[in-house]
Amino acid sequence: MKQNMVLVYSDNKKLTIEMLSKATELGKELKSKIVAVIIGKPDENLAKEYISYGADQVFIAETNLKDFKAEEYADVLAKIVNETKSETILIGSNKNGKELSARLGGILNAGVVVDSSNIYVKNSKLIAERVVYSGNAIAVEQFNSKPAIITVPSKAFDPLKKDDSRKGETTKKKIDAEKSKSKILKVQEMKTEGANVEDAEIIVSCGRGFKNKDDIKLANNLADVLKGKTVGCSRPIAADLKWLSEDHWIGLSGHKVKPRLYIATGISGQIQHIAGMRDSGVIVAINKDPDALIFKSADYGIVGDLYEILPKLTQAVKDKMG
Ligand code: FAD
Repeated sequence: MKQNMVLVYSDNKKLTIEMLSKATELGKELKSKIVAVIIGKPDENLAKEYISYGADQVFIAETNLKDFKAEEYADVLAKIVNETKSETILIGSNKNGKELSARLGGILNAGVVVDSSNIYVKNSKLIAERVVYSGNAIAVEQFNSKPAIITVPSKAFDPLKKDDSRKGETTKKKIDAEKSKSKILKVQEMKTEGANVEDAEIIVSCGRGFKNKDDIKLANNLADVLKGKTVGCSRPIAADLKWLSEDHWIGLSGHKVKPRLYIATGISGQIQHIAGMRDSGVIVAINKDPDALIFKSADYGIVGDLYEILPKLTQAVKDKMG
């Protein structure tokens, strides 16, 4: 089994499961088996879950590592890549994953494509696509050497249906990391309001069309009656005005979301915002400017003042939902 494996690793379970789906597709093309990696605590249940979502093998690396240090994790992962003879490596593109992939590329002298939105095989070559120039173009990049490392953002691929009858092998091995010379002096938790826009099914999002921080409650009220309870925002609301914490921020430099329903209120629809929400199921835009760019990305558009529309819409939804 240990040949030309497609390796999948993230410290985020959901992201690993999403990547397993794409890995399975690539595995068929490349005639490779899929290995999912767990670093640290030997979690047999998690290993079983990864198998039910497409892994043929789960490699559990028992390590002496406590806190995440990219250089130590990269050292462990490089050893696993060599041990499993993996040639295609998918790493979850969160903060840790991005740092890890760059270091792993350095150790293995391998090419790295970051934040890929699509991966496929063409003429026996592995191709990774990624959005560039703030969403205005797609770069199509071909790997000419092995191994190939690709980082995958959350929600890029839909997970496979869970199949508990799938069989796979679990390998446990003690792997010691070469101790890093760096030292963590302090860990400071980011200020958040606990919003999880990435997993939300319904998002009501606020932009500069809101005049005051207090008015955000209009979006909150609509989110509440829609049972979505999740409020998102454009960059100025989180970064400049700080009316909402950064966990609400959607876009190129914020979170990438894929809810069933996205309601953009008082958001102009600049490409950097669209880059974070364009994959939403149904997009509704509320804007007083009929020429606002957001209407080009919307399935439904309401031209008007959000201060009039939001309370009316909230009441209408309330009436409809009983
Ligand atoms: P504006 O562009 O000011 O739009 C406000 C809108 O509200 C207007 O369309 C207006 O017609 C409407 N409006 C005003 N009053 C009302 C009312 N009463 N009722 C209804 N509508 C009203 N932006 C992001 O959002 N996310 C990102 O991740 C992001 N990353 C970026 C990265 C880079 C490198 C750069 C350069 C920019 C980035 N931006 C990002 C910023 C982006 O370019 C825009 O500046 C930003 O999205 C604009 O936010 P907005 O739509 O809320 O504000």
